[in-house]
Amino acid sequence: MHEMSLAEGVLQLVEDTARREGARRVKTVVLEIGTLASVEVEALRFCFDAVTRTSLAAGAALEIRTVPGAGWCLPCGATVPMVELYGACPRCGSYQVQPTAGTEMRVKEIEIE
Ligand SMILES: [Zn+2]
Repeated sequence: MHEMSLAEGVLQLVEDTARREGARRVKTVVLEIGTLASVEVEALRFCFDAVTRTSLAAGAALEIRTVPGAGWCLPCGATVPMVELYGACPRCGSYQVQPTAGTEMRVKEIEIE
């Protein structure tokens, strides 16, 4: 499952940060997930719980913020909202849209104590 490796990557980053800061535990992890990132949020939550169970992040709250997708449409010469990767421009119907936002997942904040 693709979400399992994502969850492991997040945990790695969270644990590195927590150790560097000398934290006893991780309280909250805030993730930003783009709507074009092809991440199943429910699957990711499940995997995060599973991989953090025996870590400093056990029981940490996972807060997920959704980043809307956007792209640059060549014919329109404008930034347009995108609901799917390789989707058509909502203004002109062209498929010459380069994604510019919402394609990534990243750790935004980590709250430790
Ligand atoms: Zn367009």
